[in-house]
Amino acid sequence: ATPTAVMVGTGVGASQGVLIKGGQALESAHKLENPVVVNTKLLKNMVLRDFYELVAATEANSEHPLAKAIVEYSKKFREDEENPIWPEAQDFVSITGHGVKAIVRNKEIIVGNKSLMLDIKISIPLDAEEMLTETEAMAQTGILVSIDGELTGVLAISDPLKPGAYEAISILKSMDVKSIMVTGDNWGTARSIANEVGIETVIAEAKPDEKAEKVKELQASGYTVAMVGDGINDSPALVAADVGMAIGAGTDIAIEAADIVLMKSNLEDVITAIDLSRKTFSRIR
Ligand code: ADP
Ligand code: MG
Repeated sequence: ATPTAVMVGTGVGASQGVLIKGGQALESAHKLENPVVVNTKLLKNMVLRDFYELVAATEANSEHPLAKAIVEYSKKFREDEENPIWPEAQDFVSITGHGVKAIVRNKEIIVGNKSLMLDIKISIPLDAEEMLTETEAMAQTGILVSIDGELTGVLAISDPLKPGAYEAISILKSMDVKSIMVTGDNWGTARSIANEVGIETVIAEAKPDEKAEKVKELQASGYTVAMVGDGINDSPALVAADVGMAIGAGTDIAIEAADIVLMKSNLEDVITAIDLSRKTFSRIR
């Protein structure tokens, strides 16, 4: 029999709590454990509070989980910590799979990954490169900040694996289900996470349409594909998959696109869902 391919989007951490879509029960979705900023390296002589004010003012316009982590962390440098008022951001642009930019206090702020900085010809000093390498090895995501065309800081963001992630992948293997990781994150971080969780096949730096393409490619080679995802950028792949599974704590657009919602946002529920699907619909074989 052809093994099922299960695709696991990033941010998906690692027991009942599966919902076949179609109820109002969606609202009670549990919250995911969110990514957190764990380290900052300033490359210029700048006060951390001022740095984070510019970064937060820019990221406050983004819905991305990384943006939320950055804004949350920035609050701790403020007196108005509970309800911070960020300076106004003008000309905000979100660059899918790369980052964001805006004008804040007359400065051009760009926050995003290495490929974004390289695309716009911002040079990355050696100590920033070193920090990126370290973060990737620790399965963290390194985010770069450019102010007026100069690389000013590096943030390390950790999105720890949920307990039971490794076990869930092992059980899927024993069920003849092959797991593949498809993520927009960089190759270094993706490989580290895949290693921790026991996934061999990784596709990193994937754009939303590339995630959907990968699903179609697997289908064309005879696989029945279940896709697990939580973000807007996972939606095309969730639609393309034979069974789309959205993380309950994910974005509404992903939930919309999915066939099944994992209410407890646990990876173990993927197993329950596949079991259920096999029994109920004989769709996944
Ligand atoms: P995925 O959901 O698979 O991780 P995304 O396309 O959402 O993929 O993100 C890919 C990468 O783009 C992130 O790892 C990050 O480096 C960068 N990125 C995306 N959005 C932002 C943002 N708002 N701020 C900073 N970096 C971002
Ligand atoms: Mg995502």
